[in-house]
Amino acid sequence: MSDTASIAGPPAPVVDPSAIKEIAAGVFVICDRRVPLVPNIGIILGTHTALVVDTGMGPANGKKVLEAAQRTAGQRPLVLTLTHFHPEHGFGAQAFKGAAKIHYNRSQRNELQAKGEGYLSMFKTFGPHVAAALEGTQLVQPDQVYDSASTSIDLGGRTVELRTWGLAHTAGDQVVWLPQERILFTGDLAEERIFPIFPWFPPDDAHIDGARWASILSELADWKPAIVVPGHGDIGGVEILVAVRDYLVDLGKRVAAERKSGKDADAIVAALAPQIRAEHPDWSAPEWIDFAIKYYSTLS
Ligand SMILES: [Zn+2]
Repeated sequence: MSDTASIAGPPAPVVDPSAIKEIAAGVFVICDRRVPLVPNIGIILGTHTALVVDTGMGPANGKKVLEAAQRTAGQRPLVLTLTHFHPEHGFGAQAFKGAAKIHYNRSQRNELQAKGEGYLSMFKTFGPHVAAALEGTQLVQPDQVYDSASTSIDLGGRTVELRTWGLAHTAGDQVVWLPQERILFTGDLAEERIFPIFPWFPPDDAHIDGARWASILSELADWKPAIVVPGHGDIGGVEILVAVRDYLVDLGKRVAAERKSGKDADAIVAALAPQIRAEHPDWSAPEWIDFAIKYYSTLS
């Protein structure tokens, strides 16, 4: 975070529905415009049903996304799913309660129940704009969960697959995959030219699996997606997945090497963080480098 941002906190995390873009026939993204704590949001149409992927943060953003989805979907009933439980992805879901069928994987639902209120309190400390966006947030439960690694939703003429692997960026990360169009929504498993978000906040939250995260990205790259919609950042292709995977693997190795030389976590941050920053001059959110190093320094 820059010095300026650290005083007032990040800018207002406002979803702008006019930033909607049709990336393939019937597949829309409300783009994040690279605004921190705004995700890329999907609206996917079939002939009889529409799927919404993520809501933005807080009731006002959730309402705007619901209205954009209703405009886009017309008479089609809506299904809402989330890429993971984090506030900027899912804490607008209350607007959808009763207006859409809310469908998560069970791990994500459990993680929301276990950590949701804590994250709400923590995010409200992120400055006045974030606190204002979260004002009035109520955590809502899904209408349906699935237990298997994947499930599919028939939208009519278009089948969408939801897939989860267990603990990685969170315990319940889920990608949304359109096999015919080869379009992949990754959530925060992949961000584009943004340092990967390591939610390493011990003792409150220390649930990350960097090795599985990297292996998921390798598997996703093997799916050969034509279009990758990252959790945050610009839409692109498979290179987004490869860049994040390589960052995770490389950083894990370098931290392990530093640990072998006897350094503690703070010393490793001091040694490595400036190098990592310099190696990615066009990546934003460098504050996440330290969290990543601290996570990896606990492993070896
Ligand atoms: Zn996240």
